[in-house]
Amino acid sequence: MKPIRETIHHLMNRHDFKERYEAMKRDILNDRHVQSFLRGHDVTDAMLNRHLGKLYEFVQQSKHCERCPSLEQCPNLLKGYTPHLIWQGKNIDVQYERCARKVQDDERKKQQSLIRSLFIPRDMLQASFDQLETDDLGRIEAIELANTFASTYEVGKRTKGLYLYGSFGVGKTYLLAAMANELAQRHIASFLVYVPEFVRSLKSSLQTDAFQDTIEYAKQVPVLMLDDLGAELMSSWWRDEVLGPILQYRMLEHLPTCFTSNFDLKRLTHHFAHSQRGEEEQVKAARIIERIIYLATPIEMKGKNRRIEM
Ligand code: ADP
Ligand code: MG
Repeated sequence: MKPIRETIHHLMNRHDFKERYEAMKRDILNDRHVQSFLRGHDVTDAMLNRHLGKLYEFVQQSKHCERCPSLEQCPNLLKGYTPHLIWQGKNIDVQYERCARKVQDDERKKQQSLIRSLFIPRDMLQASFDQLETDDLGRIEAIELANTFASTYEVGKRTKGLYLYGSFGVGKTYLLAAMANELAQRHIASFLVYVPEFVRSLKSSLQTDAFQDTIEYAKQVPVLMLDDLGAELMSSWWRDEVLGPILQYRMLEHLPTCFTSNFDLKRLTHHFAHSQRGEEEQVKAARIIERIIYLATPIEMKGKNRRIEM
């Protein structure tokens, strides 16, 4: 769109200025929104001439909105804002408010910001209960429990999370992501972490502020989701210095935590009892498992491997 002043300036320089000006004025006054705005007000011709620029701006911008292609392609002066005419005493002004699409987009972005994730593929984060296939009987119970949790959990309420276990490809990570999205729609923040990569990255960021921030966030976020627990390289450092304190904190604060794993709890105990160094520490492993049981209800997911089909 040409700037309004430029358009008017251009008109004024033409020999048929008066005719064009009157035609433009007629068009503006024929606009039904302008008409209903002016109705009931005592508007003199002098007033109209004085505010024609504002009315012209309004008509131009609101026409764009009627033919809105998309928020990204919004041609308005202020992207995503729609004009309204207002009276300021005896003056007419144009005020801009967020359009319905922008309101919706802002809400979506706000929701997205409630889901923090580490090392989870971006397309996986789009998962939702609406699109979730529930054809496999072996997964229905898990899906129902996950849905109930995500759609009823309130911050501050004592609720257990879920420990979802089952073989590779049955949709465990997908279900966590659907939960995170449902929670975000209800304005509840979650932190979804792919454990194997998380453990690798922690080692390289050990002394940094980022490390401390991540651990603090994992402790305090309303809902923590640890994906693929048991697939990480086990070390006593990870078990006793990182995971243990996170789970301990969440237990004391009654903050729900969800887990996924290829292992049931017995095999997970075995995983946590054996470090790469060959040490065997049953008691320390048992302590981790106790915390998991305190925080989450174990539920098996069965079904076909959805990755093979793809
Ligand atoms: P797991 O974490 O159990 O190994 P994933 O969650 O990674 O399995 O799921 C494997 C694949 O199947 C992914 O590509 C995912 O997008 C897809 N998938 C999983 N569950 C569903 C579902 N309920 N509906 C549609 N696609 C799904
Ligand atoms: Mg997974």
